[in-house]
Amino acid sequence: MNIILLGPPGSGKGTQSQKLVEKYKLSHISTGDILRSQIANKSDLGSKAKNYMEKGELVPDNLIIEMVLKTTESIESILLDGFPRTINQALSLEKEMNILEKKIDHVLYFDVPFEDLINRLSKRISCKNCSKTFSKDDKEYFCIDGCSFQDLYQREDDKPSAISKRMDTYKELTEPLLEFYKTKDLLKKINANSSIVEVSLEIDKILQ
Ligand code: AMP
Repeated sequence: MNIILLGPPGSGKGTQSQKLVEKYKLSHISTGDILRSQIANKSDLGSKAKNYMEKGELVPDNLIIEMVLKTTESIESILLDGFPRTINQALSLEKEMNILEKKIDHVLYFDVPFEDLINRLSKRISCKNCSKTFSKDDKEYFCIDGCSFQDLYQREDDKPSAISKRMDTYKELTEPLLEFYKTKDLLKKINANSSIVEVSLEIDKILQ
């Protein structure tokens, strides 16, 4: 089974990915996580991507497409989180899947009102080791990988100046993908404004 998670920043794609990977034995490809680790490792790709990411802009298609398609080749069941984010990326993915004689089974669209997203993102703190996210409102931070409180930080692009840019970028470049996948009859809308457990149950109903 091959799945795409589509939705604005802060809509809970990463949180649900952690559950889906375990439950359905999928390989998780989060382009945001890959790029952040490239930046941490000071790679060539990381240094090219850093500026775009900090400003809340998309990293250019050619860099992203090459990075993702190199990985998808060898994977059986894939969970794409944060890719595709442009029509151009979606077309490249489609072409590659055709070559590999694979197909996308579901595109899960995480629907959350924009006002709630800004609030969620500005309170989000992330673990720099395992990328798990928490809210500043959480009573306790429990990380299964044993990461400690010192490992939690606010992502540069979760700061107010970058958040509004990311939302604009989403509306302009990523939202058109909803129509793209709707016409292919792959789009499944999830009410992602409910609790983590409720969202997870709604996804299970679609996948089972
Ligand atoms: P995320 O962790 O998915 O919110 O991604 C963080 C940032 O990484 C985005 O704001 C972009 O700058 C960059 N990024 C992640 N995925 C992509 C993609 N598919 N295309 C272009 N840029 C991306």
